[in-house]
Amino acid sequence: MRSGKVFVISGPSGVGKGTICSVLMRDYPELAATTVSVTTRAPRAGEIDGVHYYFRTNEEFDEMLKAGMFLETVDKYTHRYGTLYSEVERILDSGKNVILEIEMVGGLNVKKRIPESVLVFILPPSLEALTKRILSRGSETPEQIAVRQAQVEEEFDLSAGYEYFVVNDDLTDAVEKVRSIIIAEGLKGEGKEIKKQYFGRE
Ligand code: 5GP
Repeated sequence: MRSGKVFVISGPSGVGKGTICSVLMRDYPELAATTVSVTTRAPRAGEIDGVHYYFRTNEEFDEMLKAGMFLETVDKYTHRYGTLYSEVERILDSGKNVILEIEMVGGLNVKKRIPESVLVFILPPSLEALTKRILSRGSETPEQIAVRQAQVEEEFDLSAGYEYFVVNDDLTDAVEKVRSIIIAEGLKGEGKEIKKQYFGRE
């Protein structure tokens, strides 16, 4: 059985990457699973510890960092976020692909550590559509929204290091595109390897 790969899904705040990932997991549970990150930010309404994030204090985060538990970490919006090695391994061990729904600095760091990982950037249909979505979510203060909008341009600059670009105009279409990327990446191989597999020589 072909082993799974790590897929990083990034994109501006409010672009709908969370929804794309949840639909993908719901409709294709055998294909991939998402990791649960650690964060020092407070839970939003409805968020559950161990499901949406592992909500930890700054001190606890420091201890985990010191213990070498993170594949990558980032300081963002005055909070810290980190991907646990154990989460990635748990999913790979189950034979599935891993989806990391993380921001771009973290994504580029994952690529450095795991060169065969695949970076996918989700784009809004337009910048106006993005602002509208953030406002309609209603979970952030105007100051927080301003900070997040200022990050958008920076994120587009970082997207130069990404390999796939999916516009989230239509949810079903975006999910299918991400699924196609995962499937196609899983089929990648080297002619040399394939020949060896079939004929026992290169
Ligand atoms: P939020 O606070 O809205 O849940 O997430 C803020 C940003 O942090 C989002 O872009 C999200 O994808 C990103 N994020 C969540 N977990 C991680 C992580 O473990 N590492 C990195 N680098 N970014 C993360």
